[in-house]
Amino acid sequence: MTHSNFLRERDIRFHLHSQTNPEALRRDGPIIIERGEGPYVIGEDGKRYLDVMAGLWCASLGFENERIAGVAARAYRSLAYYHSFSGRASPDAIDVAASIAQRVPIENARIYFATSGSEAIETMIKLAWLYFRGRGQPERRKIIARDRAFHGSTIFAASLTGLPHMHREFGLPLGGIVRVSCPDTYRGRIAGESEDQFADRLAAELDEAIVAEGPETIAAFIAEPINAGAGVIVPPDTYFEKVRAVLDKYGILLLADEVVCGFGRTGEWFGCQAMGMKPDMMAMAKGLSSSYFPISAVALTPEIYEAIDAANAHGTNFGHGFTNSAHPVGAAIVREVLAIYDEMNLLERVSRQGKLLRERLSEELSDCSIVGDVRGRGLMAGVEIVEDRNSKAVFAVEKAVPAQIERMGMDYGLMLRPQGNTVTFCPPFIVTDEQVEEMANKVGAILREISSL
Ligand code: PMP
Repeated sequence: MTHSNFLRERDIRFHLHSQTNPEALRRDGPIIIERGEGPYVIGEDGKRYLDVMAGLWCASLGFENERIAGVAARAYRSLAYYHSFSGRASPDAIDVAASIAQRVPIENARIYFATSGSEAIETMIKLAWLYFRGRGQPERRKIIARDRAFHGSTIFAASLTGLPHMHREFGLPLGGIVRVSCPDTYRGRIAGESEDQFADRLAAELDEAIVAEGPETIAAFIAEPINAGAGVIVPPDTYFEKVRAVLDKYGILLLADEVVCGFGRTGEWFGCQAMGMKPDMMAMAKGLSSSYFPISAVALTPEIYEAIDAANAHGTNFGHGFTNSAHPVGAAIVREVLAIYDEMNLLERVSRQGKLLRERLSEELSDCSIVGDVRGRGLMAGVEIVEDRNSKAVFAVEKAVPAQIERMGMDYGLMLRPQGNTVTFCPPFIVTDEQVEEMANKVGAILREISSL
């Protein structure tokens, strides 16, 4: 038996994959990735793929990095583990907390570390509950989340997520979640409506939902500045300003899910800065360490921190924490990743490469009959596939067009991961002009081929 077949059989026999059709895995076997080379990943058969999605919207510096390897090795040699409970900290964790606090658009922010996006999201929810209990409003428990949102896979984060396939088999969502519309300017607007009018309508919907539920029962509203998983949905420019005005009227907190948008992805340090969103808390992960270590963070305002202080008077020492919160090796890696971002002139680079990507995609796809919309911000883009441009009708699910695009991508040497009917782009920040060109040319060829079938 070849080594390749050996791996394949063992994977099928022993490994339960995330978001994978088990029948397809048993039939086709796994896609085994062995090495990284800048923004490319290399399969165990030696085939190279340009990973258009930086893995799962995360490997911002690509798939190998000598500097980070050196830093991680040194960190493991000097302190391979320590924690943040009972006042413990490593020098790098302290340094990174300060450096994140100084970057986020929350004045005098405090930083809490966790290990995944989902944990950071759940930490924000617990902090929102703690905050309102501290203010004598313990009945404020409900969280407003949006349709088509993705906020993670743990029980409450999955409940906040607005995707039926994340709920169906698990009896989710849990109670206490109020759902409002996704600000999709391509599909959500009514004829003749400007983006600003659309934002007004969404703000009015939010206001009505709050009044219907009872404002005194609502703790927070959670949103991604740009909704990645729904297909890179960029809200109207005035959306968050109007949402914030409604929330302020009722004293509701605004929580930003910066798990994808944070750390340069939108061309600003944080997506909330790109979209005019003024949050009370922010959850960060992925780009924070370029996913070179499972580490995430939450930034909170001084008012929320004061509530933690006040709660301590009742004898609680902030009863929350993960074994690997503020892991010293993770912190050392984040510290170096942030140093690399600073040295590479990140925001300018992301804005320039992102503009080039969107321009090239628009040129390639302008005459492609199955492309309904090309959109994005920074180095995040979405190309929405439709069967009919005028009616915006989508292909029947049985035609499995997204799976076909993904398969053809691999034939062309591109690792694609369409989100529903949208081909999404979130490449590593290190992509060169030639690699942007490669993505646009190949996706253009794939979509033209599908449109001619
Ligand atoms: N929020 C957003 C916007 C995400 O895209 C993700 C992961 N794709 C999460 C939260 C959850 O992160 P994790 O998988 O690290 O728990």
